[in-house]
Amino acid sequence: MNKTVSVLGSTGSIGTQALEVCEKHGLKVAALAAHSSVDMLEAQARKFKPSVVCIYNEDKYTELRGRLADTGIRVLCGMEGLCEIAAMQETDIVLNSVVGMVGLLPTLTAINAGKDIALANKETLVAGGELVMSLAAEKGVKIYPVDSEHSAIFQCLQGNKREQLSKVILTASGGPFFGNTYDELRSVTKEQALHHPNWDMGNKITIDSATLMNKGLEFIEAKWLFDLEPEQIEIVVHRQSVVHSAVEYNDYSVIAQLGVPDMKIPIQYALLYPNRVECPTGRLSLTDYGSLTFEKPDIETFKCLSAAIEAIKRGGAYPCLVNSANEEAVKAFLGDEIDFIQIGEIVSAVLDTFEPSQITSYEDVMKADTAARAYVRERIGKKG
Ligand code: MG
Repeated sequence: MNKTVSVLGSTGSIGTQALEVCEKHGLKVAALAAHSSVDMLEAQARKFKPSVVCIYNEDKYTELRGRLADTGIRVLCGMEGLCEIAAMQETDIVLNSVVGMVGLLPTLTAINAGKDIALANKETLVAGGELVMSLAAEKGVKIYPVDSEHSAIFQCLQGNKREQLSKVILTASGGPFFGNTYDELRSVTKEQALHHPNWDMGNKITIDSATLMNKGLEFIEAKWLFDLEPEQIEIVVHRQSVVHSAVEYNDYSVIAQLGVPDMKIPIQYALLYPNRVECPTGRLSLTDYGSLTFEKPDIETFKCLSAAIEAIKRGGAYPCLVNSANEEAVKAFLGDEIDFIQIGEIVSAVLDTFEPSQITSYEDVMKADTAARAYVRERIGKKG
């Protein structure tokens, strides 16, 4: 377990928990990268003593460099810095937990350099699934899922034959507005949307959990990670977030992975695979829960979810388009430019607006991304 880890997105929710895991198990940290939190990145750098750090926001570069001047740690910035860290020679595994499709290029760069990936950046696979998975196969690189559901599926596949898998059951907490009607969603405030019942996460993913876009992105992520047809993925709402997902085999035996809702378990499994050692979290007591419930998702009300599923069924650039439209819409919602239900309206509208197109290169992804964002900005501008 003497792996060397680089953490992209080290000051976020996944990044800080990953560093707790590294500290507990004595994993060496080669590099840290953050978006713009200079204070926290400085503190992490002093504690974990990586050889390189990167701040994505270039405006903060001079400040960070000044702060770390006495440490001998190299300071990089921007996408170039992220990619340099992703390909660093001394790294065994790159944990990618940056937010949004900014994570795609560093993922591709790390795979090209032959680095294994612990993937927490789901937008990477949503926007560029085909590119990422085919490059990983070509380079013999392993992608370990960090998302709790995908980690659960990955764990349930251990010791079984992949070709005998019949389907996966992707569980969803349902978010804070489960059971609400579409009309009730009209009055949802930012504060309500930012409060998730089970998981404590960053703002983008918390809003995605409230709209159920998060489950849509995970549906697409599961398709790519486990080479599934969309018809082989069933979403089940499970309010307690104890069953993190399950798989069904050809004999109709269903195997699930359970645990307390704490991301440190999947993070640790991805970083230490295949080892299972004590995790800095609580243990699961099933009798404390008493009962676990399972229900069908309401894909009529939660339009983001149906749009994401439709996007991956259509394929081509559609998953990338809905993802980028969602990123832009969530930004607008957090900036008080649009209402909660408009996120779903915008994401769905993309499916009716764009003609089919293929993704065969990183440039194709960027083109679709730019087009989707421009469409969303124009649509919001008109109504504003
Ligand atoms: Mg998840």
